Amino acid sequence: MSLDNLRDLYQQVILERYKKPRNRGKTDPVDRYQKGHNPSCGDTIELTLQLNDAEDQIQDVKFEGEGCAIAMASVDLMADALRGKTTAEALEMVQKFQAMMKGEAEFPSELRKLNVMQGVAQFPVRIKCANLSWHTVKAALELAKDVQPAGFISNE
Ligand code: ZN
Repeated sequence: MSLDNLRDLYQQVILERYKKPRNRGKTDPVDRYQKGHNPSCGDTIELTLQLNDAEDQIQDVKFEGEGCAIAMASVDLMADALRGKTTAEALEMVQKFQAMMKGEAEFPSELRKLNVMQGVAQFPVRIKCANLSWHTVKAALELAKDVQPAGFISNE
């Protein structure tokens, strides 16, 4: 597959997720809530998490918000990737994703879907769009229960 075709494939997945997101909405119940904002593009997301009773596993991830195709596709793919993961695994994936966007890591094959975002890494101005959801979920996971989130978390 040529590089151009590969880029088309990335675009296709991103546009498909943007038009038909699978994880829009709010979890029930809402165990964690965090807003995220990317000022350089204007992307805004509201992320909700449902955790298990011990609060060490993510049972569901949903999002609301508006933004560019990359930011919206990234949060939708992230929700799929994090569902069922322990909070420790999720935080590890945040680090890995951010390293991947810098070109320093590759995701294991079972998470290959997230590699579509690697196409975005060629456009530095768009990296923040792809990172916003991961940045926001990290803040949500590090937040203790019953603590009010500190407004918008910004990735700048
Ligand atoms: Zn954006």
